[in-house]
Amino acid sequence: MVTRLAVVGTGVAGAYLLNRLPSDVEAEAFEMRSEKNWYTVCAWGTSQPFISDLVKKAGFNFEDYVLHKGKNMIVDLGDEEVNIPLRGLVTYDKHRLTEDMLKGKKVHWGAQIKEANGNLAGFDTVVDATGMHRTLLPKVNDDLLIPSLEYQVKSKELPYDDFVIRPYPGLTGYWWYFPLGDGLAHVGAGDVRGRYRYELDEFVKKYHCEVVRRIGRPVRVTPPKYMEPFFDGKVTGVGESIGTVYPMLGEGIIPSMQCVNLFVDHMGDREGYRRAVLEHYAVYAKVYKFIKAKVEDKFSFARMLPTLLSIYLYMRGNEERYGLQTRLPEFYKIVTRL
Ligand SMILES: Cc1cc2nc3c(=O)[nH]c(=O)nc-3n(C[C@H](O)[C@H](O)[C@H](O)COP(=O)(O)OP(=O)(O)OC[C@H]3O[C@@H](n4cnc5c(N)ncnc54)[C@H](O)[C@@H]3O)c2cc1C
Repeated sequence: MVTRLAVVGTGVAGAYLLNRLPSDVEAEAFEMRSEKNWYTVCAWGTSQPFISDLVKKAGFNFEDYVLHKGKNMIVDLGDEEVNIPLRGLVTYDKHRLTEDMLKGKKVHWGAQIKEANGNLAGFDTVVDATGMHRTLLPKVNDDLLIPSLEYQVKSKELPYDDFVIRPYPGLTGYWWYFPLGDGLAHVGAGDVRGRYRYELDEFVKKYHCEVVRRIGRPVRVTPPKYMEPFFDGKVTGVGESIGTVYPMLGEGIIPSMQCVNLFVDHMGDREGYRRAVLEHYAVYAKVYKFIKAKVEDKFSFARMLPTLLSIYLYMRGNEERYGLQTRLPEFYKIVTRL
């Protein structure tokens, strides 16, 4: 039975975990950033119907943090715009919610942990919730990290009033516009080939934006299937450190929280946790296979057809989970045209 647990990293996974532990577990968190410089790098988009229950389990009301409720998402394919009706996609103040989840918890700010012993010698279990850093677990081969950059902007002239994405040719990433309400938005881009450099600055210039914050970090799209081991000594990985990001969208908030719940459900049973993670994120490996083929220019429609079909059926069957409607003509257009 775990009694003393160290949580390394206070992103969404670490903060949520601190609120999901049984009361007989004594937990302390270690965050490399100082409290002043700590920030949740993210576009803050998620599916309200789905995340509300997860957040409720931690004792919070998700509705209190919602900034913008989406109705329609434009997917800009260059020569054509596809409109996707939304089924609960929202932006929320992820920073404020994560911050609230840390209130009253024992957090060591400015504590960059490099190994599981040393400072953490007195803990029975250490959780690596360091996201893309994966500091306390062995590196893996072929880890696909997509560079990304994002501006939080403020302007009276913002050109859109709802979600917009523009995938890059080859589906190597996408540009996004996520409204935050009150004349604010996240404009960002992630792309394997880093083609976004000037686009964000052009946007700022064109729409006379004040840049409130410039943030960025690579996002891991390698799924859990290829991120083993999940353990090293007394360390267990949770969240993006073990690849819980939906590769098609770079969406990691809900998957990281789900991973926390799998960890809590299997405390003291590593093999059970391992199996539950592999099973829960099995579809991510299929999506990754497709993204990788696109990125490496090895995509063949005929060869990928069964994979594409199962991805489509998965998205279609999980509209509430992703907060958007999935229909075959639009899906086909997006995956084949680019
Ligand atoms: C630009 C961008 C936009 C995104 N937009 C979305 C979105 O709109 N919706 C969505 O669902 N997902 C989005 N994602 C993905 C999502 O943000 C992540 O997958 C999710 O936050 C992962 O959570 P995590 O807690 O595992 O890791 P993180 O949120 O990365 O948290 C890791 C924490 O660990 C700390 N840390 C790292 N190393 C150490 C160390 N050695 N010692 C102590 N502390 C350490 C870091 O400072 C950080 O606070 C986006 C990602 C990026 C980069």
